[in-house]
Amino acid sequence: MKIRIGSVTIGENEKIAVQSMTNTDTRDVEATLRQIDALSDAGADIVRLTVPDNEAADAFGEIKKKTKIPLVADIHFDYRLAIAAAKAGADKIRINPGNIGSAEKVKAVTDVCRERGIPIRIGVNSGSLPKEVKEKYPAPCAEAFVEAAKSHIDILNNFDFDDIVISLKASDVKLTVEAYRKFREKYPYPLHVGVTEAGCEYEGIIKSSIGIGALLLDGIGDTIRVSLTADPVREIKAGRAILNSLGLLPDCPEIVSCPTCGRTKIDIIKIANEVNDKLSSVNKKIKIAVMGCVVNGPGEAADADIGIAGGDGCAVFFKHGKIVKKIREDEIISTLLEEAEKFEGSNT
Ligand code: SF4
Repeated sequence: MKIRIGSVTIGENEKIAVQSMTNTDTRDVEATLRQIDALSDAGADIVRLTVPDNEAADAFGEIKKKTKIPLVADIHFDYRLAIAAAKAGADKIRINPGNIGSAEKVKAVTDVCRERGIPIRIGVNSGSLPKEVKEKYPAPCAEAFVEAAKSHIDILNNFDFDDIVISLKASDVKLTVEAYRKFREKYPYPLHVGVTEAGCEYEGIIKSSIGIGALLLDGIGDTIRVSLTADPVREIKAGRAILNSLGLLPDCPEIVSCPTCGRTKIDIIKIANEVNDKLSSVNKKIKIAVMGCVVNGPGEAADADIGIAGGDGCAVFFKHGKIVKKIREDEIISTLLEEAEKFEGSNT
């Protein structure tokens, strides 16, 4: 099942979209636009904004006019804000229909979304399971998540609305993975995947990589968010790195670098990090190796397209495991970047 979120289509074999959420005050149009631009520059495909009041809904409309990236309006409870955000140009509305209130209110939201081709994302998470689900399942479990999702889906389906994306996020990795797997056995809706409240940057990336990675390896996940207590740009970088590690980013370089050991005679850690940072502007599939020594480097990185293997104050540059030339240590970064720019086809 495919869903269109502005210019981005998700579901089935479409590219997996990376998203994050702004943490500026939505009413501050300039600051929010600056953050949206930073997220977009980092590779975000979709950005979500909170819309907590009418002023924010008006600002959402202003922001929408000034950016091309698809925007999701995050609404809690108030159906009038969902309608205002939809009319202001939202590409997706994130609201839980079970929290909207009366049938008339739900109908009013689905009518506006249907008319404008705007999907609704139902976001189930451990902190907001419906009362009846909590009574049936006192401890959070995958079944409870799927039942909660079903109750929200049924409400929308009753109004003949099926343009739906689902998320089922817990802060517990195993519970998150189980919930998505169970849901996928029953429903075809595209899934926004993530581990919620995953923590500070380092631990959060690890939790998210395990949870999102396990699901992606199962073929589950159409949009992803790495939820971090950090700058949202870091979420995009981490999300893209997760996709890249699974070969799911078609135009993104990959660095393989050795862990260094007693044989290393040049500053491989600095070189690898600098090459990694500078390659973020190169949009092509290329595998680049940064290896510490000539003894093992080219062989260990034989599947890389290009690479270097360090000597004492120097390195050899190699292509597909074969040594091409010898260069000085201070030429390593520029050589790798120039060769990456020139590179026209991957052997991997
Ligand atoms: Fe050590 Fe060479 Fe392997 Fe790097 S490539 S870890 S320097 S043996």
